[in-house]
Parts: sequence; C-alpha cells; structure tokens
Amino acid sequence: MKAKPVSFLESVDLYFNRASKALKLPKGLARQIRTCNAICEMKFGVELRGGYEIFTGWRATHSEHALPAKGGIRYAPFADQQEVEALAALMTYKCSIVNVPYAGSKGALKIDPKQYSLKELEHITRRFAQELDKRGFLGPGLNVPAPDMGTGQRTMSWIADEYQKLHPSDINAQGCVTGKPVHFGGVEGRVEATGRGVQFGLKEFFRTPEDVKKAGLEPGLEGKSIILQGLGNVGYHAAKFLQEEDGAKIIGIIERDGSLLCEDGLNVEAVLQYKQEYGKVEGFPQATFSSNGAALLEYPCDVLIPAAMEGVIHQENAARISCKVLAEAANGPLTFEADQIIQEKGIFIIPDTYLNAGGVTVSYFEWLKNLSHVRFGRMDRRFVEAQNERVIELIEGAIGKTIDPSAKEKLLEGPNEINLVRAGLEDTMREAYHEIKAQEDENEKIHDRRTAAYALAIRKIADIYDSMYL
Ligand code: NAD
Repeated sequence: MKAKPVSFLESVDLYFNRASKALKLPKGLARQIRTCNAICEMKFGVELRGGYEIFTGWRATHSEHALPAKGGIRYAPFADQQEVEALAALMTYKCSIVNVPYAGSKGALKIDPKQYSLKELEHITRRFAQELDKRGFLGPGLNVPAPDMGTGQRTMSWIADEYQKLHPSDINAQGCVTGKPVHFGGVEGRVEATGRGVQFGLKEFFRTPEDVKKAGLEPGLEGKSIILQGLGNVGYHAAKFLQEEDGAKIIGIIERDGSLLCEDGLNVEAVLQYKQEYGKVEGFPQATFSSNGAALLEYPCDVLIPAAMEGVIHQENAARISCKVLAEAANGPLTFEADQIIQEKGIFIIPDTYLNAGGVTVSYFEWLKNLSHVRFGRMDRRFVEAQNERVIELIEGAIGKTIDPSAKEKLLEGPNEINLVRAGLEDTMREAYHEIKAQEDENEKIHDRRTAAYALAIRKIADIYDSMYL
C-alpha cells in the first residue's frame, strides 16, 4: 500500500524537526517554538441578498516571542485550519530569517471571492475584521494582517477603516494592517515587494561563486533560462524584473489553463496583458501552448520558479524535475518527500522561508511608516540634494569642467520612498542570504539551504526565549 502523502503542515514540522536536531537546545524548547500558540475558528453571519449567510474564518498566532504577530489573510474556497497553521509557522521562521521583529500569524476565510460583488465583499470583510478585533487578533501592537491569495489593497483598506472606527483614539490604528494603498497609509513598493525580493535573492545566489558552482552553473543571471509557474503578483514581478533588469530568459510560463514555451524567451509583460485580456494564456502568439501545464515543471532549464501555490512538486513528479536551481517563490511548493528527492538529484533549492520574505520585509517598512506618521525621505530628501549640489559645485570648480547634466541629475538625487524601500529590501535579502549560508558552512550536521534557514530561525528565536521568563 502506498504511504499517505505528507500534508503541508506535516512538511513544515518535519523540516523544523530536521533542523532542530542539528542544534543544541534546552529540553522541550524546540517543541515550544514549533507549537502553534493560538488558533481561532470563527463562524459569523452576514446579512446578504435578503437573508443571512454564515462564513467560516481562521486566524492563527503561531508564536508570540515578538509582537505584533504578522501574516497574510487568504480568501479561498479550499482554505482550512491546517493550511492556516502551516502558513503561520512559516511566517514565524521567515520573519526571524530576515530579521523582521515579528512573530508569525496567518488567517483565512473560506470563500470564493469571485462569487460576490465588491459591495458584498466589503460587507463580509468588515464583519470578519470585527470578529478578529473582538478576539484579540487585530491591532498595530498585537496582530497585523496583510494581503495573500484572493485579497489585496482594497481588502486591507476595509480592515484598517473598520479598525479605526472601533478604536477612534488609537493614533497608530493605520498600522493594524499592511499592504494598504499608498493614499491610505501604504508604502511605495509594497505591491512589487515579494517578486522584487525573489529577484534580489536570485541575484545574490548568482553572485556567490561557491553556490553557483554547486548548482553546475556560471555566475550572473544574463541569458539564464527560467521557467515560471504562476503569473500572479509574485511571479509576474519576479519574472519581469529578472527579464528586464538582469537579462534572464523566461522560456516558459505555466498558468491555470496550461503552459507556454518559447526557447528564445517570452515577453513577460506581453503575456500578462494577454492573460488579462483573454483570461487565459492559450493562444498567446509565438509560443507553444500545452494544456498539460504541470508537465513544463519538468522541462530542462537553469532556474525553475514555482510562484503559484503549495504542493505542486510532490513524490510523483519530483524525480523528473530537471532544473539546476529551484527558487521557491510560492509558500511550500515542494512537499517533504519531494524535497528529499530533489536534494538527492543535486538540485540547489533556495527555500521559501527566505526567498519570498520580501513581502513581509516591506510590510515591516510600511508599519514603521505608520507608527512614525511620516513618509520615508520627507525629512532629508531636499537636505541631501542641497548637500550633493554643493559637492558637485566643488568638484566642477576643482576640475574646471561641468559634469554631464544627466549624470548630474542622478548624483543630485536625494532619498525618496521607493528608492529607500528597494534599498532596504535589497540589503535585507543580501544579508539574510549570507547568514543562512554561514549557518550551513559552520554546522557539520547541515547539508542544505532549507535546513540551514530553519536552523537560523530556530537559533534566533531560542535566544529570545532564553531571555524570557515563561
Ligand atoms: P496570486 O493569486 O496573485 O497569483 C497566483 C497565480 O498563480 C495566478 O496567476 C494563478 O492563476 C496562478 N495559478 C494558480 N494555481 C495554479 C496552478 N495550479 N498552475 C499554474 N498557475 C496557477 O498569488 P500571489 O500573491 O502571487 O501568491 C503566490 C504564492 O506566493 C502563494 O504561495 C503565496 O502564499 C506566496 N506568497 C505571496 C506573497 C505576496 O506578497 N503576495 C508573499 C509571500 C508568499
């Protein structure tokens, strides 16, 4: 009889156990860190279409070693409690890996958002926000949701507005959610952040000769062949930046209705426009379409980026995966069994707990902006520009020439919000990459990057527990 496949939550716990065994921790501490601290199932009625409809939602606070707890809210018809717990645990480890001072949380509402009008979704979301607030699962110092599958900026605005109504004297109320539109307390660069983080993480891999050699590749992203699954928020931004800024070749794109293959490279922007117009990728010109999308995961390429959903590489297809680097942009795209098979094949895995942490990193910047009540760059931009102007004048005087106007414009520029956010994110991703690598290099029991990432997170959280009195 075939063994039952390992669930998403079991996979996360198995990865955790593998890493904690490589560390020396006080008795019972690994279990304390791994255990989900609180999970609430909410069933609430909403007056809709001349009657009442009951909705089921969850919010899990995986850990409270730091506050607030942070993590997205997903609207999906297949949502369930175990998935919420698994995603909340990943958030705890992710925040710790990228040095964002939060614990992990996650939420979901079992709903197919496509079946409801905008007005109805607003009503449902406001009711969900009331339930979260009532139970201590919402607040700028306590628990801060963000968008995930099926939710977006508008959903976050509704939650923030509802929270403000319930707590009119809370001066930090806007910081109760992140991922808001910029005109409603959001930060520039949040929408692109997770994809941008994937780009920065991959760039760092290609800048690290030891890792590139391990994967059997040459340094640099220029000309590298990439296959992407999921042209959504994360996948689109990652693929677009890798193509337009780093010269990588996106040879394949897998979407819900099938896949596109073009060895010369697909134009990511054009595919997105096509998908938005026709609701599918089938029929996109100058590419070979196949309705068996998942088969393209197995096509040879330098980098495979699953950016759609969990569990897409499993014990059935893992042995046929033939990329050199597997860059986990989605949460949990490999099951635990697949992870073992992929490692045996010598494929270099850049794990989700690190690679898709760009979203929470920029959420952290947004939260800081909300608490400080001032836009990044507002206090120093003109001051820095004036200083730069003086330096340029001095240089021009000393060399007796004027500097080219377009170069001068770049040299003059003071910090603005989008540049600061991107720079902060790049610094975070580059630093975390090497912290994880050092964990692997320094611990002889660790032989892969995922275990190293988990071990790094566990060690940092264990240090915090060490200073607490429970
Ligand atoms: P999204 O809904 O914007 O995009 C997902 C895309 O994948 C869509 O285009 C969808 O059509 C496609 N898709 C869905 N199922 C598919 C399948 N079986 N085969 C091929 N394509 C499929 O979602 P997103 O926000 O981009 O999130 C994608 C993944 O990244 C999820 O695992 C999510 O948890 C993770 N993630 C997202 C963020 C974020 O900031 N949005 C942050 C961290 C992690």
